[in-house]
Amino acid sequence: MPETPDDFRCGYVALAGRPNVGKSTLLNAIIGQHLSIVSPKAQTTRERVAGILSEPGYQAVFIDAPGFIDAEYALQESMRLSAQAALDEADVVTFIADATRPKTMPDDVLIEALAVRSVPLLLALNKSDKVSSDTVASLLKRAEERSLEAIAISALTGSGLDKFLAWAVERLPLSPPLFPIDDSATQPLRFFAQEYVRETAMELLREEVPYSIITRVEEYREAQDPVYIAVTIYVERESQKGIVIGRGGSGIREIGRLSREKIEELIGERVYLDLRVKVMPGWSRKRNQLQGFGFQLPPER
Ligand code: GDP
Ligand code: MG
Repeated sequence: MPETPDDFRCGYVALAGRPNVGKSTLLNAIIGQHLSIVSPKAQTTRERVAGILSEPGYQAVFIDAPGFIDAEYALQESMRLSAQAALDEADVVTFIADATRPKTMPDDVLIEALAVRSVPLLLALNKSDKVSSDTVASLLKRAEERSLEAIAISALTGSGLDKFLAWAVERLPLSPPLFPIDDSATQPLRFFAQEYVRETAMELLREEVPYSIITRVEEYREAQDPVYIAVTIYVERESQKGIVIGRGGSGIREIGRLSREKIEELIGERVYLDLRVKVMPGWSRKRNQLQGFGFQLPPER
């Protein structure tokens, strides 16, 4: 493993904004068409990760801030909490607005909330390709009057995206990568595949093997149909291996079926999921080391 340089930056970039302003399009444009990962659930930290961009020098973890301070959703407690959690977690917040719909600009409540916590905020005026340069200029001016940093972008044509990214990356904290770096384009998909298996196993076995499961993708062959994914589930003790496998293999089959369905839903392709269970004694004492080797670990308690 090459050492992480001291000036490596890594952190969470929240993507906030109303529906249809172009958040997904933007994420795809930044990360690449492969990674149009929109997380199906929005309850825990991990599930909010929408995409991970790993480059030499930095790793930007994009998180969804669903229904962010959106009046229509504000009454929905779970949405509000989820948005709040994303806000708390973010190192920087980008608010995407639609230049053709000035109503999608951020409101004062959000701006103040972020200012209080000193979270940097960037307003990205998207769809600037669809309006005149005069309109763009006047919207930027309006933002400036509200002391909002703002840039014009187009997720569709790509204009302004370098600037957008540079703004966010510069403001990320100095930190080694939080997620495994893998030069393959499928890295985030691998991440989700192993996380889904871990999550599913945990759900099914919560009582029997609490916090004793880690997972790793051993192989990910996407150029075939079905996509072939081999994941190993590691437990700490021999006795736990039996529990994961279950009577006559029923446990591992159920874990396999449920996680395969989740992965298929995510990538939109058929998947052959090859699961294995192995014992690795004492892994929980070697967390950091294992993370560097691409293991998906349970959250620390
Ligand atoms: P989200 O709901 O915020 O994720 O919005 P989407 O990414 O799904 O985009 C909503 C619509 O806006 C789609 O039809 C996109 O093609 C379109 N769109 C997104 N970005 C741009 C842009 O920069 N320019 C133009 N003209 N259309 C865009
Ligand atoms: Mg979307």
